[in-house]
Amino acid sequence: MSISCIYIHKPVLAHVIFMDVISRMAPVGAKINHPCAACRMLRRRCGDNCLLAPYFPTQEADNFVGVHKVFGSSNVIKMLQTVKETEREDTVKSMVYEASARLRDPVYGSAGAIFHLQKLVKELESELDLIRARVLESQEQQNQLLRILMDVHHLPPISPFEDIMFDCENLI
Ligand SMILES: [Zn+2]
Repeated sequence: MSISCIYIHKPVLAHVIFMDVISRMAPVGAKINHPCAACRMLRRRCGDNCLLAPYFPTQEADNFVGVHKVFGSSNVIKMLQTVKETEREDTVKSMVYEASARLRDPVYGSAGAIFHLQKLVKELESELDLIRARVLESQEQQNQLLRILMDVHHLPPISPFEDIMFDCENLI
């Protein structure tokens, strides 16, 4: 291709490039206007192949703020690259959970939440034991009452003549 040829077709080439850019932008247009939460925070272009975009959508910016503070964005990217694509969503959920726990409790992080839940489980187990003991006690009382009622029903009926008030011998 000669220089003149390039020169002649330059406007056409420019138009083709322009149309190509427009066509590429069309499906990604929304993405350019709304980069993922990670790219928005890191002030970088959010491309089609953004690793973080599927896991940190624009509307969930707080999740990335948390993991960025705790792990650092480069570590988040490294971690995502080391796991299979099918495991990335769970990995991000774990990181988001750990980050929010670490921000809430900088000393213990998610371990603090686990300790708290274990304490709660022990308290509930104690309460459950107490309630079970009360249920057994109530059942025992109910059984005693039933035994008393059964005994009363099995007593022979009292005849008025057997009553001491009607005993003729005592009257005489
Ligand atoms: Zn992005």
